[in-house]
Amino acid sequence: MPNSSSTSVAANFHNSKDTAVYSSHQDFVLDCHALDIDSCYFYDLQKDSDIDVTTYSNIYTYKTNLQIPSNEMKKYYDIAEKLSKNAKGNQLDFKVEESCLRIFIPHKDFYQQRVFAVKIGYKTKKEGSSLTWAEDQNLRPCVFTSGHLLNNRSLMPCQDMPQAMSSWHCLITVPPFGEQLTVLMAGEGEPAVDVREDGSQVFKYQSSYPMPASTFALAIGNWPLYCSFPHQIDNCFKQSTSCLGPRFQIFAPLNLHGQKLGRLKEYLQDCFHGLQSILGAYPLQRLDILVVPEGFDSLGMMCPHLMFLSQSVLLCEDTQAAFNMFYRVAHELCHTWLGVLTGPSDWTEEWLTEGICCYLEDVVHAKTLKWNEHETRERLEIRKLLKYRVLKAEINTTREDLQTLRPNGDTSCASLSSMNAEPCIVKNGLNPEKTLLQVHYLKGFFLLKHLEELSGRDEFLGTLRRFIDANLGQLFSSKDLLEHCFRELPKLRQSNLTVDIVCQEWLDTPGMPQPLTAFEVNEENSLYKDVKCEVRNRVTEAVNCVIELLLL
Ligand SMILES: [Zn+2]
Repeated sequence: MPNSSSTSVAANFHNSKDTAVYSSHQDFVLDCHALDIDSCYFYDLQKDSDIDVTTYSNIYTYKTNLQIPSNEMKKYYDIAEKLSKNAKGNQLDFKVEESCLRIFIPHKDFYQQRVFAVKIGYKTKKEGSSLTWAEDQNLRPCVFTSGHLLNNRSLMPCQDMPQAMSSWHCLITVPPFGEQLTVLMAGEGEPAVDVREDGSQVFKYQSSYPMPASTFALAIGNWPLYCSFPHQIDNCFKQSTSCLGPRFQIFAPLNLHGQKLGRLKEYLQDCFHGLQSILGAYPLQRLDILVVPEGFDSLGMMCPHLMFLSQSVLLCEDTQAAFNMFYRVAHELCHTWLGVLTGPSDWTEEWLTEGICCYLEDVVHAKTLKWNEHETRERLEIRKLLKYRVLKAEINTTREDLQTLRPNGDTSCASLSSMNAEPCIVKNGLNPEKTLLQVHYLKGFFLLKHLEELSGRDEFLGTLRRFIDANLGQLFSSKDLLEHCFRELPKLRQSNLTVDIVCQEWLDTPGMPQPLTAFEVNEENSLYKDVKCEVRNRVTEAVNCVIELLLL
């Protein structure tokens, strides 16, 4: 991939409140870091009679739909193509700061043209961490994004916050290297590929799902397709192709093709049925799964239509234990609903995606491996014990301000509109300690387990599913979720709890919540008994060895 790119940003400023009357320009600010910006151009779309500007004024009407209609997407593409080829733009002054790009748009343009486009020419830099340039498993060069974790502001200037959702078109030109490179992106369909005279290939992807900039993802490298399979929709009685759901593809380096990927494919096929019984039919049309090289700093990362999976999840040689790490695959798939198609309105409330996925991963994993009721109860109790121990250890060693799940307080729509405020977007963004913490994952997990135990498992799962369904394509707060649960679950209302008590005890206070101060595994749990027996035998063996040594 060429180490450069450019972007066009269409903007529509109907009501600008921040008017600096003494200045001759209006700042147009985009988040950006470690980018080499070389030009900014302004295009007046309303002066161009060929361009239908109604496209832009319609954009807010799509808020409740998941996708922008295809004819509107085509208009965006046509406009971008026209501007990139021959439209004459006005060069703009700009200033690059540590974390943002300020583009100065003259007042006369800003106010007279309510609809305009800005084109930015730039190159990425080696030190930017949104892109990882690496060697793949066969020591060939490759590149992939780490946007979900680190944001995409060193890949492109953007409005890097959850509320600023946009659709996109992306063209990637791959020079003729002599070998076939795979180009994967978070786009919704198969890419259209043009081959130029010099042999270079242009891959065209698009996303008509308006999503935050951090969800944009790409990967380019030598990763041949291992397999492609459609998902058969459950309970579909028609013997026709309409029963075929989304299409899934696995990409990996050739040396991993074989038994290990076979197990992954087998797991995925069953996992989609498990997911369907808990969260409903897979909501996107396709998913590419890429086994990323060593050095990927997470076990998995879900982006729209593209999952990055660490090869560590696959590498277990023992056939019996090989599926144990696949709970992480279930976790990432749950992120399709929570993190991709819905998410917190305030990023600091990450428990809303991570905590819920941590809770659902166990339920989905159990369904996928077809454990019976008894086996599920025993195994999940052991996983709960392990999670409890990690949470307890982290709470003992973590700064108190990093232990609250709602560090900005109540960010529900009702509360914000009464204060006329917006949620603070990023907190602890530069704190490396925060990235490694699991407190938000695990405290969130135990809060959901607590609510499930009070309200009944099936009832709770049903409520959670209805909440997610109702919020697809939208952002929500902790209070929105809790109010929904209390509204729908009579046993929760009959308990001594209220939404405010839950918020105070679990979300707004550091440390271990009161219901979690003690946790005991049922002594009758056969797995627990086996482990205790094994430990006792080992200890007895060790003591006997010491006694023998002393007697010698
Ligand atoms: Zn996660």
